Amino acid sequence: MRRTGDLKLIQELNRSIILDEIRHHGPTSRTDISKKHQLSPTTVSSAVHELIQEGLVGESGVGYSSGGRKPRLVQFLPDQQCIIGVSLKKSSIRITEMNLEATVKREISEPIRCIGQPIIERLIALLTNFLSQTSCVENCAGIAVIVQGVVDADEGIIRLNSKLNLVNVPIKKMLEERFRMPVFVDNDTNAFILAEKNFNSLDSYKNMVYVTVGDGVGAGIIVNGDIYRGRSGGSGEFGHTSIDLHGDSCECGSRGCLENYVSWPVIHTRIFSSLSRGTSSKMLDMANGDVTKISLVHYRQALRENDPLAVSINDEVAQYLSVGLVNLVHLFNPEVVILGGELLIENASLFDQVATHLETQTLRTLADGMDVRLTTLGKEFEMLGAASVLLQEKFRFTL
Ligand SMILES: [Zn+2]
Repeated sequence: MRRTGDLKLIQELNRSIILDEIRHHGPTSRTDISKKHQLSPTTVSSAVHELIQEGLVGESGVGYSSGGRKPRLVQFLPDQQCIIGVSLKKSSIRITEMNLEATVKREISEPIRCIGQPIIERLIALLTNFLSQTSCVENCAGIAVIVQGVVDADEGIIRLNSKLNLVNVPIKKMLEERFRMPVFVDNDTNAFILAEKNFNSLDSYKNMVYVTVGDGVGAGIIVNGDIYRGRSGGSGEFGHTSIDLHGDSCECGSRGCLENYVSWPVIHTRIFSSLSRGTSSKMLDMANGDVTKISLVHYRQALRENDPLAVSINDEVAQYLSVGLVNLVHLFNPEVVILGGELLIENASLFDQVATHLETQTLRTLADGMDVRLTTLGKEFEMLGAASVLLQEKFRFTL
């Protein structure tokens, strides 16, 4: 029995290596795959035959030969199957149809209007409607859900999302029973770090930290090549690490949590209170005099125009975030720190200050050679994340 199990595992691993090679370096020939990965021609031929049968790979003409028969080439066919991506956030639900390269073909989104169980009922209603208009249902690789908070990815359970008041929601089971297709669930920041690895070719890094700052603050952590999840999926709650013993009380029960100093809702509150005290700012004009309408877009624009209020808040955010990040680096000693999220995108001043602080305030041996970079996933980072969760689980792509 054991030998059979080992053989099956080896076959699956070889298949994922072959599919990954075709995906990243195709069109390519069976012979080249065989030579590059030191796999027998029979192993490669049989796996490629299986992948062609499944529609993931297709023949693609012939390649060059210095003598003898020209090799037949195979390439990846990303449009033969689709992925349904779901991003469940504090502010909105977004559902998309993507191909296997995470190109979004169709989407819907709507603001969150309730919390607790009704959100899940609303999500199911939206998915039902969306799938009824999806032509690829028959060839759907599955539904990938990313959500903030503590997520048990193995069981597909949202353990805790305090902002949406979701506790122990078995979302994988609920959606699989309803839609009869595989469902994959993960924490959003874990999904983003998978996307960095998957779509930005950061395979060479084995120890990575990805920090996102936007609506909230979170961290995705890869240790020795694997996502570090902790006992119940609660690792990476970076926003609830305290940086001030005497700071404000936090919803988690602690005091002085980082999220209460650097997230966008907190920044917005500070802009609001400064303007209420009579401080002037271009942001008020940008929002046509309505302080409640001041958005991150206005904040970024104000930073570019050196608005004193925006600059002063941003500088303070940089200090708090830097202190938190140094702690994270000292704990995990990563090869790369990737910064993402809506607050860091197009905010060069914040990134530069944080990068300089990390360079100068981290233990020398940890800082030497450590790469600090801004995410390059672009505006579709959420769906790249969702797709990566499914691709990694279902096809063992890259990771
Ligand atoms: Zn907290």
